[in-house]
Amino acid sequence: MTEIRLHNTKTRRKEVFEPIDPSDVRIYLCGPTVYDRAHLGNARNVIMFDVLFRLLRHVYGPDHVTYVRNFTDVDDKINARAAESGREIGEITAETTQWYLDDMAELGTLEPTHMPRATQYIPQMIEMIEALIARGHAYAAEGHVLFAVESYAEYGALSGRSVDDMIAGARVEVAPYKRNPMDFVLWKPSAPDLPGWDSPWGRGRPGWHIECSAMSHALLGASFDIHGGGNDLMFPHHENEVAQSCCAHPEGSFARYWLHNEMLQVEGKKMSKSLGNFFTVRDLLDEGVPGEVIRFVFLSTHYGKPMDWTAKKAAEAEEELEKWALYTSNVEASKSIPSEVIDALCNDMNTHSALTALRKLAKSGEFAELKAGAEFLGFELQVDAGTQGAYDKILQSEENRPKIESLIERRATARKERNFEKADEIRAILTAAGVSLVDTADGGVTYKLEKDFDPAKLEGL
Ligand code: AMP
Ligand code: ZN
Repeated sequence: MTEIRLHNTKTRRKEVFEPIDPSDVRIYLCGPTVYDRAHLGNARNVIMFDVLFRLLRHVYGPDHVTYVRNFTDVDDKINARAAESGREIGEITAETTQWYLDDMAELGTLEPTHMPRATQYIPQMIEMIEALIARGHAYAAEGHVLFAVESYAEYGALSGRSVDDMIAGARVEVAPYKRNPMDFVLWKPSAPDLPGWDSPWGRGRPGWHIECSAMSHALLGASFDIHGGGNDLMFPHHENEVAQSCCAHPEGSFARYWLHNEMLQVEGKKMSKSLGNFFTVRDLLDEGVPGEVIRFVFLSTHYGKPMDWTAKKAAEAEEELEKWALYTSNVEASKSIPSEVIDALCNDMNTHSALTALRKLAKSGEFAELKAGAEFLGFELQVDAGTQGAYDKILQSEENRPKIESLIERRATARKERNFEKADEIRAILTAAGVSLVDTADGGVTYKLEKDFDPAKLEGL
């Protein structure tokens, strides 16, 4: 079996991935809060998990991987959006959910196996909170239910913090009903005009973290394989998920491997509304940046490194994808995925190396393999009619490469033999055919095709 290695945040090491049950590999990604369009940064872990999903399906079989990504459709940001816009909450969440699905589809991501909405799992959340209270890990106070962080000795292990350090460094609101300032909300009371559900603690709504614990348990069980999200979610969100899940279901171990992606920046700066470099995936698509180009730029940086979105990268990605599309337009994809691509992904999903492998295949003219590898990475490589001219030129360049290179070599040999007449004659032929010679830094010679390139004239010798 192909060996996959992943950097596990839990151990801070690259580890061989061993699924709990190879016939049902189970992964969970924290999904969006649905009150607005996804910004570009939000797409990063969706693409990361899409590649993971594709790789696991390849290794364990398409029917043997379960991928869950939730929608947070109960949240104070949604309530605020409804209040300021005068619209119904349900209308906002339904609209935003559909936007999200459309935008992510344009980035070439496969739909997860399950996409649960938090509001569909309120009974499971209440049940879990009751279990936490019964086991002494949570307490009710003034209509709230709080998780008692001191009741769980491992609290802070995932993000590598101690409760004391957290208290010292935190600017947490110290509510009077909290026994410890780091205790976090599982349930809170809801005013009559806000969404609320009946519970043993009165009418209320869940805190943010409990939904992922309840939904992953319902759909993946008490132990599952991989959990992920942006590294900004490691604390407190993921730390709190671990605490809730492990304390409510001590028979399980929750997620065995944790994958965290680094943040996206724009032109070297943090993406933020105040810097004016904040944009949504849809903004880019509307500007005419194809979804595949966005995907390509994301894949060119390993998920564990900060990644910079630049207009230059997008332009280069577009050019490269166009070239690959042209090379492969009349080619049938090879049946097997190139091993270099799979090997790169098996090495902690090194998408950067996977793209390098595709680039090599393009260069060596292995177009059937290129197509298979590109499709595996989620690129459809469509040629649009407008690029036909470019296509012809690239094909000519590829087809004539051996002939041109052989002429260049013969010229070099002639020069070495001090047969300058011959060397000049070859150069003249190349020039007449529209091939200009370019000296390279290492003392060699390469070439470039001019607009008036005419391969027939290469035959002049
Ligand atoms: P938020 O928009 O803060 O609710 O985050 C939703 C998801 O997007 C989370 O998984 C975050 O980790 C991720 N995320 C938010 N901002 C960025 C960013 N600039 N780069 C990468 N991921 C991000
Ligand atoms: Zn979550």
